[in-house]
Amino acid sequence: MAKISDYFGENVFDERAMKACLPADVFLSLKKTIDEGAQLDPDVANVVADAMKDWAIGKGATHFTHWFQPLTGITAEKHDSFIAPAEDGGVIMEFSGKELIKGEPDASSFPSGGLRATFEARGYTAWDPTSFAFIKGKTFCIPTAFCSYGGEALDKKTPLLRSMEALSHQAVRILKLMGDDKVRSVRSSVGPEQEYFLITREMFDQRPDLRFTGRTLFGAKPLKGQEMDDHYFGVIKPKVQEFMNELNEELWKLGILAKTEHNEVAPAQHELAPIYSTTNIATDHNQLTMEIMQKVAAKHGLVCLLHEKPFAGVNGSGKHNNWSISTDYGTNLLSPGDTPAENLKFLLFLCAVIKAVDDYQDLLRISVATAGNDHRLGANEAPPAVISIFLGDELTGILEAIEQDKPYEGVEKVQMKLGVDVLPKFNRDTTDRNRTSPFAFTGNKFEFRMLGSSNSIACANIMLNSAVADTLAIFADRLEASQDFDAALHEIIRESIRQHKRIIFNGNGYEESWIKEAVEKRGLLNYRTTPDCMPHLLDPKNVDMLMRQKVYNEAELKSRCEIMLENYNRTVVIEANTMAGMAKIHIVPAVEKYCADLAGAAAAKRSVCPELACRFERGMVSDLTALIDEIMEQTGELEKVIASTNEIENVVQRSEYIRDVVLPKMCELRVPCDEAETMTARSYWPFPTYGDLLYGVH
Ligand code: ADP
Ligand code: MG
Repeated sequence: MAKISDYFGENVFDERAMKACLPADVFLSLKKTIDEGAQLDPDVANVVADAMKDWAIGKGATHFTHWFQPLTGITAEKHDSFIAPAEDGGVIMEFSGKELIKGEPDASSFPSGGLRATFEARGYTAWDPTSFAFIKGKTFCIPTAFCSYGGEALDKKTPLLRSMEALSHQAVRILKLMGDDKVRSVRSSVGPEQEYFLITREMFDQRPDLRFTGRTLFGAKPLKGQEMDDHYFGVIKPKVQEFMNELNEELWKLGILAKTEHNEVAPAQHELAPIYSTTNIATDHNQLTMEIMQKVAAKHGLVCLLHEKPFAGVNGSGKHNNWSISTDYGTNLLSPGDTPAENLKFLLFLCAVIKAVDDYQDLLRISVATAGNDHRLGANEAPPAVISIFLGDELTGILEAIEQDKPYEGVEKVQMKLGVDVLPKFNRDTTDRNRTSPFAFTGNKFEFRMLGSSNSIACANIMLNSAVADTLAIFADRLEASQDFDAALHEIIRESIRQHKRIIFNGNGYEESWIKEAVEKRGLLNYRTTPDCMPHLLDPKNVDMLMRQKVYNEAELKSRCEIMLENYNRTVVIEANTMAGMAKIHIVPAVEKYCADLAGAAAAKRSVCPELACRFERGMVSDLTALIDEIMEQTGELEKVIASTNEIENVVQRSEYIRDVVLPKMCELRVPCDEAETMTARSYWPFPTYGDLLYGVH
């Protein structure tokens, strides 16, 4: 058995590979580009490209691709081989600096939300040297940003990089004002915990709903669900363990720090968490992780479901975005620390996050909004659609004491006077746990828990970074303009607590009473669905902030709003069509056949014993026939409302119609179908049941 350290990162052109393959001066100049964003000299780029090509070919690669993240939410690649014709009729392998730095894929088929008409098909991809290139299969993949010819971002990486820069810029301003003169940059780090389901390929293939939509659209409750709570952290089954082992190896070869694996709450549900890294890299790695999970599952006769709600009545899958910010010399700014000066810094950054989350609740909600995630948020299993922050009793107590200028009556009795007195030492293990909060402080980081399992983490981090950057900018402006620095700092902290404490909630987020309190008493936003929240992306306050931080321009925001709503609409319409089809051509014929056989059995019995009542057969035939009629009626109605969606031009109105009319009709059709499943003999039912799917992998 090879040791992990021997093959970790072997498919990545990382710093070790760069050092080994590049002349020393070229390595240094590339490193400067990576660390400081300096422009890469074209001659240097040619040397780098050539070394990359030799390294990749040495590892069996035949093609290269610019690897990018268009707004579809998955990654895209167009492979070009390294070959170029040689004069003698053979080929040579070529790869130039120009090809490394810039690509021009035909961009017309990627969603642009009106940013780029199809006749202006040119878009270009630009190398992101801060994320290492890697080999996947036989292809050398170069992480890139994807822009329109006019320079508008058509992807998720570009705004993410812009938001990281904005955050760094504003955080450095604050730190410098607080006397830190060694800080050069600040970066946000993320550790995303990824949930997923594993089912057998054989069963997956038998279900059109899973194949076309990633979730089951029908399915009666299984005889055993998750009521026993016996799956969470349970013993991992051998077949699942084999999958996890291979997945880990593949991820390690790509330099992805896969760390934790365990069973989740629902049967067949599992989780994988990597060690955290810089947001940009964590995002690339999470996209790769999701892709490789599916590939490795296929090799094991399994399918990995990344949908947020594959099974009704069973916990769905999310992604916890553990987020923190730290300086280039490694100090975590969200770590309470134990010296007063650090505490003051911590309190200021903490207040910036609290204010940012309160002021931009809507943007955070928008950043996780998809048709799939709408099934989770607010369904008593995932955080609600209302955003609030969990701080734990200790921190909340400290903030209250600061706000009221009172002594803190916590673990230690300490007079709270900022900047002068000693703040209590925070013991991070005493911060209690709360699983129901959408945004929880967990010792030295915030855990944003509303992301859906299939979401790119880019969106949430773009909004989080931008909102915190903007808040820090407000703080920095005030501090710069103040006559008395300590007093201004004190006032900023107190004022932030006073104005934004409504967002802090340490109780049970799953309770209906909390939603009532949040909305009615505290005035927090409750956008339950994608059509509810998405249009607010274009609210002036949001557009202004994102433009101020240079993360998006107005055209980019409009395009995103339209694309996200269009995604929602298309997703639900595909589901509705799939449902109608399954009901008509799978379920009804199966139930019909069962009825016919029951009727035939009754007739046969009566031909032998004419006095038999055949109550069972007659009862079943009568009940099932009534269900068949109802199913056909509901299917007809669903088809009608699907057709009506085409008549609504406006994308917002179409999404509202889909939410208010199409989705409820789908629920109505599901009822008689699921009932028929519980009455139809097993051998007649056309699909694997919930019980089969959830308990099928051993
Ligand atoms: P859990 O919430 O399941 O107990 P852990 O504490 O193990 O999770 O951490 C979950 C994730 O948070 C991991 O990906 C881990 O690397 C990441 N993480 C830990 N510390 C930080 C940090 N300072 N910043 C960002 N992510 C972090
Ligand atoms: Mg966690």
